[in-house]
Amino acid sequence: DMGLDGLRVAISGAGSGIGLEMARHFAAEGARVFIGDANAAALAALAGSDPALLSAPCDVADRGSVAGWLAACVATLGGIDCLVNNAGIAGPTGAVEEIAPEDWDRTLAVNITGQFNLTRLAVPHLRNSANPSILNLSSAAGRLGFALRTPYAASKWAVVGFTKSLAKELGGDGIRVNALLPGLVDGPRIQAVFASKAAAKGITAAEQQAASMAHGSLKRLVPQSELADMAVYLASRHGASISGQAISICGDLEAL
Ligand code: NAD
Repeated sequence: DMGLDGLRVAISGAGSGIGLEMARHFAAEGARVFIGDANAAALAALAGSDPALLSAPCDVADRGSVAGWLAACVATLGGIDCLVNNAGIAGPTGAVEEIAPEDWDRTLAVNITGQFNLTRLAVPHLRNSANPSILNLSSAAGRLGFALRTPYAASKWAVVGFTKSLAKELGGDGIRVNALLPGLVDGPRIQAVFASKAAAKGITAAEQQAASMAHGSLKRLVPQSELADMAVYLASRHGASISGQAISICGDLEAL
């Protein structure tokens, strides 16, 4: 028992992928979960299949949308104990001189400014919580860099700086702030990365996957469920003394 009974958890970008996996793990542990996603159709489909996951659409890059979503979340759950800033996009691939400036702007707007947009409105509610925490999704790219994905890597390094600074700022109020750095997570997203890298090198996606996995000591992809397990642990009483950490869950990956 992780002792999450009734913990009020808000997760952005949880209409699919890692965020959805986290939402399901939190709900299974007895937490009350409110999720958002820019993809309203994905949320509508979930509302039918998974009624435990309460939701409203939210584009984290749009401050009006974020304010409305946060208000709906607080009205539904009666407050917030844990905010998971999960929404993120891969952004453009290409040489830096070929990256369209508007693609750069959008990647930063979603991946780092989006975390600021939500956090600034959630903190007053977290101050009223008995066990408050924030978890920000960074990436192995936020530790290693990522060739031909400079906007993504820059945004994910920014997440780590935001996290470490917030942890110092909010620690006196008992609010813990950590970053999660996944790498080579099993799922459709990583297959798209392998395909685009493979195309650039003229090799197959399977060859690229083998080459990428060779950079880690475990030589395999990481299941989404392990990221969700860590999110639950950090929000629980077991994580009560963990703050300001950038936690890599990537099989000891040393390059991307
Ligand atoms: P995903 O694409 O499966 O899910 C991301 C979700 O965010 C989608 O449902 C999408 O609709 C939503 N979203 C996109 N833009 C949004 C916006 N502006 N506002 C609100 N929602 C928005 O991706 P994922 O793999 O589950 O990634 C989740 C997080 O984990 C991201 O921050 C990502 O950068 C990070 N991450 C993933 C991996 C990986 O290998 N999958 C590795 C490292 C980091």
